[in-house]
Amino acid sequence: MELKTIKGIGPKKEKLLNKLGIFNTLDLIEYYPRDYEDRTKVVKIEEATLGDFNLLRIKIVSPCKTSYPRRKMSITTCRATDGYNNIILKWFNNPYIKSNIKLNDIFYVYGKISKNGRIIEMDSPIIEKSFGNKIGKIYPQYSLTEGLTNNDLVNFIGRAIKNENILDIIPIEISAKNSLINRKLAIRNIHFPESMKMLVAARKTLKFEELLILQATINLDTINIDRKGIKFKDYDKVYSFIDSLPFVLTDAQNRVLDEIFKDMNSDTSMNRLVQGDVGSGKTVIAAAAMVKAYYNGYQSAMMAPTEILATQHYNTLKELFKNTNIEVELLKGSLKSSKKEEIYRKLKDGNIDILVGTHAILEDVVDFKNIGLVITDEQHRFGVKQRAKISKKGENPDTLIMTATPIPRTLTLVMYGDLDISIIDSLPPGRQEIDTFAVNMNYEERIIKFIKKQINEGRQGYIVCPLIEESEKLDLNSVVELFERLKNEYFQDTEIAFIHGKMKNDEKDSIMNKFINNEIKILFSTTVIEVGVNVVNANIMVIYNAERFGLSQLHQLRGRVGRGSHKSYCILINGSYSKVSRERMRIMESSNDGFAISKKDLELRGSGDIIGTKQSGLPSLKIANIYDDIKLLEKVQPIAKSIIKDNLLSKDGYKNLNNEIDKFIDKINNNIIFN
Ligand code: ADP
Ligand code: MG
Repeated sequence: MELKTIKGIGPKKEKLLNKLGIFNTLDLIEYYPRDYEDRTKVVKIEEATLGDFNLLRIKIVSPCKTSYPRRKMSITTCRATDGYNNIILKWFNNPYIKSNIKLNDIFYVYGKISKNGRIIEMDSPIIEKSFGNKIGKIYPQYSLTEGLTNNDLVNFIGRAIKNENILDIIPIEISAKNSLINRKLAIRNIHFPESMKMLVAARKTLKFEELLILQATINLDTINIDRKGIKFKDYDKVYSFIDSLPFVLTDAQNRVLDEIFKDMNSDTSMNRLVQGDVGSGKTVIAAAAMVKAYYNGYQSAMMAPTEILATQHYNTLKELFKNTNIEVELLKGSLKSSKKEEIYRKLKDGNIDILVGTHAILEDVVDFKNIGLVITDEQHRFGVKQRAKISKKGENPDTLIMTATPIPRTLTLVMYGDLDISIIDSLPPGRQEIDTFAVNMNYEERIIKFIKKQINEGRQGYIVCPLIEESEKLDLNSVVELFERLKNEYFQDTEIAFIHGKMKNDEKDSIMNKFINNEIKILFSTTVIEVGVNVVNANIMVIYNAERFGLSQLHQLRGRVGRGSHKSYCILINGSYSKVSRERMRIMESSNDGFAISKKDLELRGSGDIIGTKQSGLPSLKIANIYDDIKLLEKVQPIAKSIIKDNLLSKDGYKNLNNEIDKFIDKINNNIIFN
């Protein structure tokens, strides 16, 4: 229902609610509290926690007095006792409170207690004659926006719950088996808990529900496909290709390639995730699989999340295939339409064997003659439904996903559903360790000197910072601002440039090309260079406000250097003095192992989400948290899986769940971010 059907919500409040992402009464009842105040336990003044909120039962022992220390400011106070000790109740700019408070009245008061010399005070307490609305309850605390009070939300949500016909989403047989409560009760208790016990039950139920929807959606994407696929054959030429590579595959690469070939040879279609740290050599693995598809007479597609990366893959593949007849083409959004038309035509005619590209590949006009293999690089940047979409362009082509984000098994379930996993767990030999240093801004000048020295020796470097535009609230270095400042102060005679996600693609390409050709010495960037960029001459990575990045993201960024024979350096400028952030920097200094880092990152979490919802393209969750609720997630996953596998969604008791899944998919489709 519309928000304005709720008493008290006019156009003004409606706008404010919209700001919080609340657009209808359903959103409202699903706007769960961020915290609770326990206003059920009356304490003695003596037992009260200083600096914290407490509930007291007191008697007024002196009448209220109001003073006016400044213009437009009043302080109203009165003295009260709990029978043992005295306390001063104090209100600012609320002189009217007096009229409700008489000598010898007994009240419950709830507020923050502090000590002023020897006098104990309670500031701006809520005051009630009896246990009722605001006192005697576990009281919800909502995230607010200016102009909207916690009371507003309490009132609106209370009314919405009364009006709304709240139906169960979790099928009854599932909720019974897992000791959940019904949705109506859960919603009521998540906002206005009858007791701590009911609050716990409500939280469990609503988290379960959210994870069930999430997991069922993801499983829809991976399980429901008909797994009957192409049976590829082995050809000697595939192995000659591998033998012709300028290096010998590592044992890890060989093992993973075996796993992939086994899948390709079977008549069920491959659905495999390859995890391998930055630089572990995933690209040649992808290439070998595509060569196999080629000799079997099938086309392949390789999707990358950014044009920079797609272009780079294209160039790498061109080079790898230069002694073969394999036709590789690059499709990206920024191509001229005549060029695109040509690609579409050749693709349809079978004159292109391998198509590399961005999400432009997903468009309906892209039609293959016979696609047999789909590879997505850094898949987590794509929306969940995207994979299904490209797979539909052929008859169950094999799919391979490459990721450098070393996430644990449980989290792969969240992001990808149920798929097979291969891990490239070692790096090619001779790789140099990258020296990592974490410093603060005081070191900037020394860092710059160091960069200049490296440039004089012929090297190149990256300078990365978190935001694109100047931010009012946070003191972060925006790439453009930082660029201007350093250009003026230090680099007037150095060829430097910046690049960021909001730039036009041809602009980005041209800068990237100059950097690759060593015409640009320092590339300032946001995280658009995070994935995959490969410029072997670059040996310095400087990251401003490193504390703002997740550890795995820092590791990815660091992986842009150390790709050639030159000693490489990563300098993290930590803008925070917090203990956690110092600890995180220390981890980066002491480890070059992406898997170990990711594990630590999970432990420390904080801002270091290794898979932010933004990256996964999944809508943000309202109550569940895939880190904290991993146990629950493990419980929900097989349930979600069997719902999809056994085709239960069309069954009677599953209608509401089915609707919610549809809604969730809509959200995903509105949420997909590229770049
Ligand atoms: P990533 O796994 O990060 O995508 P790449 O595929 O880009 O890694 O490989 C990184 C670099 O290592 C490339 O220059 C590639 O040619 C090289 N490489 C890959 N495999 C081997 C190997 N077995 N021995 C030596 N170098 C290799
Ligand atoms: Mg790669």
